[in-house]
Amino acid sequence: MKGGELIMAAPFELRLPGNGGGNYCTGCGGHLYRTKDAGEPVEEDHEPGCEVFSRAVQVMLYVEQLKRAATAGADRRRRRYLQKSAKDLTTAACTDDVVLAITKLAHRYEKESQQGAKTGATAEMLMQACQALAQGQDPAPIAPGPSH
Ligand SMILES: [Zn+2]
Repeated sequence: MKGGELIMAAPFELRLPGNGGGNYCTGCGGHLYRTKDAGEPVEEDHEPGCEVFSRAVQVMLYVEQLKRAATAGADRRRRRYLQKSAKDLTTAACTDDVVLAITKLAHRYEKESQQGAKTGATAEMLMQACQALAQGQDPAPIAPGPSH
């Protein structure tokens, strides 16, 4: 029997959208190696008009807002929390399934907002922003931090 050879002859690379492989865009099937390399979404990895890429760009716009907010305000703990969140959202924007990654972040911020930590209000803001981003909406602008 030569059954084994049949398996070997199967195409080496199967493009299955949403197979969780991690390196292929779930929107257009593009390989995300430039994205992974650059640590931010790269347009050349995607087909023109890819939904996932435009979502990733939207996330990165919010990351810019987060970074700006992280340099202002008197509350150091909040600034550090915003910095960390900017990194987390950047990572999410570089995944093969941006919406799923952002949805997971929304759940995490929801938990953190309920833990009664000093950054609870910020976590809640981030949760709402991630929920909006996951639905393709623009998140609310980041309010200046509490002045206490
Ligand atoms: Zn894509």
